[in-house]
Amino acid sequence: MKESVGEWKVYSPATGEEIARMQETAAEQVPFIYKEARKAQVSWAAFSIKKRLAFLKKLRLLMVERMEEMAEAISQDTGKVKTEALVADIMPVIEGIRHIEKTAEKNLARQKKATPLLMFGRKSYVDYMPRGAVLVISPWNYPLQLAMIPIVSALAAGNSVVAKPSEVTPYVGVYMERLFREAGFPKGTVQFAHGGKELGALLTNAKPDYIFFTGSVRTGKIIGELAAKELIPVTLELGGKDPMIIFKDANLERAANAAIWGGFTNSGQVCMSVERVYAERTIYLEFLKLIKEKTLSLRQGASVDDDIGSMTFPAQREIVSSHIRDALEKGAILETGKYPDQWKLDEKTLFLEPMILSGADHSMKAVTEETFGPVLPIIPFDTEEEAVNLANDSKYGLNSSVWTEDLAKADRVTKQLVTGAVNINDVLGTVANHELPFGGAKQSGIGRYHGENGLRIFCHEKAVMIHSGKGKTEIQWYPYKKKYDSFLSLFKNYFGRRTNWINLIKDYIKIRKM
Ligand code: NAD
Repeated sequence: MKESVGEWKVYSPATGEEIARMQETAAEQVPFIYKEARKAQVSWAAFSIKKRLAFLKKLRLLMVERMEEMAEAISQDTGKVKTEALVADIMPVIEGIRHIEKTAEKNLARQKKATPLLMFGRKSYVDYMPRGAVLVISPWNYPLQLAMIPIVSALAAGNSVVAKPSEVTPYVGVYMERLFREAGFPKGTVQFAHGGKELGALLTNAKPDYIFFTGSVRTGKIIGELAAKELIPVTLELGGKDPMIIFKDANLERAANAAIWGGFTNSGQVCMSVERVYAERTIYLEFLKLIKEKTLSLRQGASVDDDIGSMTFPAQREIVSSHIRDALEKGAILETGKYPDQWKLDEKTLFLEPMILSGADHSMKAVTEETFGPVLPIIPFDTEEEAVNLANDSKYGLNSSVWTEDLAKADRVTKQLVTGAVNINDVLGTVANHELPFGGAKQSGIGRYHGENGLRIFCHEKAVMIHSGKGKTEIQWYPYKKKYDSFLSLFKNYFGRRTNWINLIKDYIKIRKM
């Protein structure tokens, strides 16, 4: 958490202690950063994929060596407990790099494609060419993972990167910069610009070749608009309001453990956290009792054995407060945690006790807007159809989960949920599997990364067709004289109910001779 512009003093939101001082990147540097990035990209792209992957491997091994130091840095900068820094921010990056090391050569290699019969004599391929200088703008909630995965993906694909980490967690930004430097990446290949939204806007306006943005819907729309003006391709990874649907035949003990972890991990500051629980009416009270008991047993603090750390960003606490107040005014009941009036109004330490809201409904902000805090509203439902309608009644569509022992029912519901991911009898799992695509539906974003397209999005996908060059002409080239009727006959013979191969060959030879 930073305090001021120019020289930043960085404070820990968990302890309130100053943890670092650092310099903001000056606006005047932006053109030079891109100049350097464009220059470096040419030689970086000229390296073989193997050579680029060797740099990534070096980075991965350095990260493995520095795990504890990194966990400490992330925990200090965000207020999250060290276990979460390690398991949910550091490990996914290491796993992501290893996945890239294993798959990049295959996914970036020239792909052979079928060529239709009427294009006789050619061969077809898809090539993946790096886009150039990629801008990666990232948020504060998982400051390592959400910057590093797009950065290393863009690099593996042969781009140079300009990274703008969140100003809310600047210490992690500086840490990442140091990691790349120590891993020996060539000068200019990865550059970090440290600053806030003004710097982000300058970097966006400076016409990068691609923008990879992770953050709020509000900023996503601003960046999307700017990108559209210059026709800069963009991926937008935005917010969520993820539903968890629990049917009466679910393993309730497991579902309750998942609900509180999925709702309260990282103090609920997770784009794909559980933000709404729908429980079938016959088990609603039993489930509410279970999650209450389990929530009350959680330990909150800054030690390595604690479960829940502090919030990261003071402004986020205001949003949580407004959602709780709105819900209570509209009749919800606060089952755990404190009323906003009782919160410690200390700007330096940001602990919020986890809050369960019963009696919640879709008139409340806590159910319709992204809260991004340790708040779990719970709502009963009666039928499968009602559960699906409630879950889909949202402008967001990032993630969801379905809980039942009836896998046919789970499958039926999964097919109807308008979300980028569905976890069955699990929460948040999909993001940890780099084989699967990650991204949102509706206002949760545009585009996907991870999965086999995780590197390809950072490439121009180029269609290549090769002809041996033998032969003077092609049938569809000039002159057209007398060709029309023969083409009609050829296409009817080819595309008709049954392909008439003899007539088709005759038509083809006839046109060739014209
Ligand atoms: P934010 O939109 O406020 O900021 C994100 C980044 O954008 C920061 O680096 C910020 O400096 C920069 N920025 C802000 N305004 C800008 C502008 N006009 N031009 C260029 N850059 C600008 O988001 P946040 O508060 O840091 O993050 C929380 C949000 O991110 C939540 O909504 C959360 O759901 C979302 N999120 C999404 C994902 C995902 O993968 N879908 C992951 C994590 C977080």
